[in-house]
Amino acid sequence: MNNTVRVRFAPSPTGYVHIGSLRTALYNYLFARKNNGVNILRIEDTDQNRLVEGAEENLLRTMSWAGIDFDESVNREGDYGPYRQSERLKIYKHHIDLLIEKGHAYYCFATAEELEQMRREQEARGEAPKYDGRYRDYPREQARKRIEQGESYVVRMKVPADGETRFPDSVRGEVVFQNELLDDQVLLKGDGFPTYHLANVVDDHLMGVTHVIRGEEWLPSTPKHVLLYNFFGWEVPQFAHLPLLLNADRSKLSKRQGDVAVEDYIKKGYLPQALVNFVALLGWNPGEDREIFSMDELIEAFSLEKVNKSGAVFDVDKLNWMNGQYLREMETGEQVAFLRPFLEKAGIDVSDPLRTEKMVRAVAPRINKGEDVAGFKDLLGGHLPDIRDAEALEILRMPDASRVLEHFVKKAAALGELTPESFKQIMKEIQKEQGIKGPALWKPVRVAITSGPSGPDLPLVIDILGRDKVIAMVEHVLKNYCNE
Ligand code: GLU
Repeated sequence: MNNTVRVRFAPSPTGYVHIGSLRTALYNYLFARKNNGVNILRIEDTDQNRLVEGAEENLLRTMSWAGIDFDESVNREGDYGPYRQSERLKIYKHHIDLLIEKGHAYYCFATAEELEQMRREQEARGEAPKYDGRYRDYPREQARKRIEQGESYVVRMKVPADGETRFPDSVRGEVVFQNELLDDQVLLKGDGFPTYHLANVVDDHLMGVTHVIRGEEWLPSTPKHVLLYNFFGWEVPQFAHLPLLLNADRSKLSKRQGDVAVEDYIKKGYLPQALVNFVALLGWNPGEDREIFSMDELIEAFSLEKVNKSGAVFDVDKLNWMNGQYLREMETGEQVAFLRPFLEKAGIDVSDPLRTEKMVRAVAPRINKGEDVAGFKDLLGGHLPDIRDAEALEILRMPDASRVLEHFVKKAAALGELTPESFKQIMKEIQKEQGIKGPALWKPVRVAITSGPSGPDLPLVIDILGRDKVIAMVEHVLKNYCNE
């Protein structure tokens, strides 16, 4: 047998792509690439009630947005297809029959009402709810007759009543579960579809998966999976369960405290390289004091041994910082291409390419993500200033502020157009003629034009707005905010 590493990302197409799923997909991809292995995408769509129209396409789009590719997938058939579980039902049926033949699984006719009553009685006795095994030893022939007569049924696995199930986990070391605590898991549902557990184990085996890298929430299912491998007489893959993602208050990452869907981050204007870099560090410790990694560098540095056991806090401030780093690394042309739709969405006119580029050069140093450009809507739109910032108001009340602004208006009005160069020239003249310099000269002009004590590069802003708008703004400020 060859020992090529084969890993899989096995999402259920039940809606948006969770940020935790992105991390699982990423770690599988990094591990595969690092080990010259094969990265598989398998769609786990056996839970028909939870399917969401369009979720699969969205998933594929999100993966390619993030730069995670697959060697075998629904749209890239390898030798182990089909890669969509709903197209593999015969395979599961066959394997369920095998388990029944071997006595490792059995038919169960307990109705929903019966199960409900069972649960209530157990609760009343203070016991944890668990299937009580009432059909474990029901004669198979009798069961088949009931099925022939049309009675509905499920198939359950026969978990050993005692003993323990153990397996090594790359992240957690040896993991041990007591069999008596495990439920006789349903393997085949009433609707004829297998459950996740059966389909997942059968497919991981048939697809030659060597390492199962997935979220911690699947850890309690793993002993059942290990038992299934044993029942079939198959080799157990190496498991690696990734730590939970947490909110800042260390509760489980939830929608209530922030965005959990990758789409939300795309919509807000995060860059794929930044989100991937950030997500890579959620639970994996490169072991060096470094934060910025390209995909190739992540591949080079990645190992399962450096994945942490403890939960990873999702720190959105850090993500913002990181995205800003990536944004500023981009060439102006790339920044324009990336930010243009966000400017447009904010209602800023982007019809003139040269002006758009200037706007991007003005705002890019001062934002972290695409949607932040909306904060410059008034400024770039040349709206008359509405100044609320306390420090800015203070600046306009400085003794020389109105004198500076009055001279500024006069000199600008005398010009044909206001360019970054002529702007600097005017400022120099005011300095010389009025004897005002430094903050006393510059701050009132900055505040009058950008409404705040700090902001985008002033010559650039003036260039974008043009003479008339700038004069109108400064006159408005003189009239409404200055004392004398
Ligand atoms: N279909 C499962 C999911 O939605 C796969 C879990 C696993 O990787 O085994 O996450």
